[in-house]
Amino acid sequence: MDGLSQEVKPYLATPRHIREALLKELPDALLFTHCHEDHYDATFVSEYLQMAAGPILGPADIPFCSQMKQKIGEICVTPIPSRHVGKYDQIGHVSFVLEGSQCVWFMGDASPLQWGKQTELPKPDVLVAPYAYGVGNGWNVVKGLGAKKLVLLHLPARNADPFGLWDAIESSLDQKGDVELYIPDMNETVNI
Ligand SMILES: [Zn+2]
Repeated sequence: MDGLSQEVKPYLATPRHIREALLKELPDALLFTHCHEDHYDATFVSEYLQMAAGPILGPADIPFCSQMKQKIGEICVTPIPSRHVGKYDQIGHVSFVLEGSQCVWFMGDASPLQWGKQTELPKPDVLVAPYAYGVGNGWNVVKGLGAKKLVLLHLPARNADPFGLWDAIESSLDQKGDVELYIPDMNETVNI
């Protein structure tokens, strides 16, 4: 899921050894929330297509992507049409709800602002979402969705943070209520 970032400063590219590992042991499926280069890599997709037949899910403006709900192994994957955060609201974007032993909602760059008025939304155990969900009103969205845990992504390295995102998150922590917050390091595996 969005695991093939190219470098878009201040965000780092997926390390070479991870890309090589992904081509050696091919994933069962590729999921992309949108076409931005810090989430998607067309070169990897064409290499994957030459070697594997697994489904590729994503918005309609990315070639070869399906928007159909489907079962991948034991996991049921539902793409949810979603609006990208900020000024990129015109590009295709889906988020993904993954249902197995837990329900995980992977937001990609989906804006937290769009969920407030919608009803019948998924009720995730775990929300995997960009930093906007961990600052200010984003916490109300996380709590409103009923998530027990927030895994926060899309942060730059702490010592190379031109937008002050780490400070913004730390000064909003009093709003998180009972939600467990986890911010993984680059390359870290999160056990859900
Ligand atoms: Zn984006």
